[in-house]
Amino acid sequence: QTPPMGKILAIANQKGGVGKTTTAVNLGASLALADQRVLLVDTDPQRNLTSGVGLKGQQAPAGNIYDALMTDEVADPSIYVMSTNVTGLFVIPSDRNLAGAEIELVPMLARETRLRRIVQPMRDRYDYILIDCPPSLGLLTLNALVACDAVLIPLNCEYFALEGLADLVGTLKRIRAVLNPALDIDGVVLTMYDERTNLGQQVSTEVRDFFKEKVFHTVIPRNVRLGEAPSHGMPVILYDVKSRGAEAYLALAREMLARNGRPPLTSTAS
Ligand code: ATP
Ligand code: MG
Repeated sequence: QTPPMGKILAIANQKGGVGKTTTAVNLGASLALADQRVLLVDTDPQRNLTSGVGLKGQQAPAGNIYDALMTDEVADPSIYVMSTNVTGLFVIPSDRNLAGAEIELVPMLARETRLRRIVQPMRDRYDYILIDCPPSLGLLTLNALVACDAVLIPLNCEYFALEGLADLVGTLKRIRAVLNPALDIDGVVLTMYDERTNLGQQVSTEVRDFFKEKVFHTVIPRNVRLGEAPSHGMPVILYDVKSRGAEAYLALAREMLARNGRPPLTSTAS
C-alpha cells in the first residue's frame, strides 16, 4: 500500500553535467506516468529543469522559487506550484535571480531551512518531491539536503566519476550531525552509460564496489533523445517514448517504486 507521506529526494552531485536535471525531469515524468503525484523543485539559477518542462521565464502568480525562499511568511507554499504538460507532474520554477540567493541567504535567520519550510508542508499532497540541485555544495544545495529525506546521486560513467564524492559524503555527514539527522542516501544512478566502451563497465563496477546495493540496477544510457528533449521543453516520454532514454527512465521509476514498496507499473506509455 502507498505510504501516507510523500518522499522528498534531493538530486545532488556538486560535479556539473552528470545528469541531475535530466534525471529530475525524466524520473519525475516517468513516476507521474505511473500515477504518482510528483512535484519538481528547481533550485538551480541555470533554470535547466524549468526550461526542460517548457516553463522557462514562467512562474506562478505568487512568484518562483526565489520568491518562495526570500519570503519570510509562507502560509501556503502551493501558491508557487505550476502544472506541466504531463498529468500529475508539477513544478516550482527557478529564476535567474536565484544566482544572488547564495549571497542573500547568508545573513538570513535559519538560512539552511528556508527550503524545508516550503516543501515539508506539501509532502502529504505528493508521492514524490524531487529537488534539482545546482552543481555546487553552496547554500542552495545545503537547503535541499536539509529539506529532503534522502539524496539521489547521479554519476556519469566517466573517469573521475567518484572524484569529489568524498566531499558530498562529508557534507551529508555534517548535515546529519546538526540539521537533518535522518538524511539518507536513497540511491546512486549511473548515467550517460556508453556500452560500446569498456570504460562504462569499469566505472559501473567501481561505483557498485563503493556504494553497494545503493546503486540502482537500471543504468541510463547515453541517448541523443535525452539531450534533444529539453530544447523542445518536454520530458523524453513526450518527445520520443520509444527511445532508449525514455525506456531507461521508465525502468528507473519502476525500480524506485518497487524499492519503496509501492505498486508496480502495470503498463508503460503506449
Ligand atoms: P548541471 O550540473 O549543469 O546542473 P546536470 O548534472 O543537471 O548539469 P544535465 O543538465 O542533466 O546535467 O546533463 C548535462 C547535459 O547532458 C545536458 O545537455 C543533457 O541534455 C545531456 N544529457 C544528460 N543525460 C544524458 C544522456 N543519458 N544521454 C545523452 N545526453 C544526456
Ligand atoms: Mg542541472
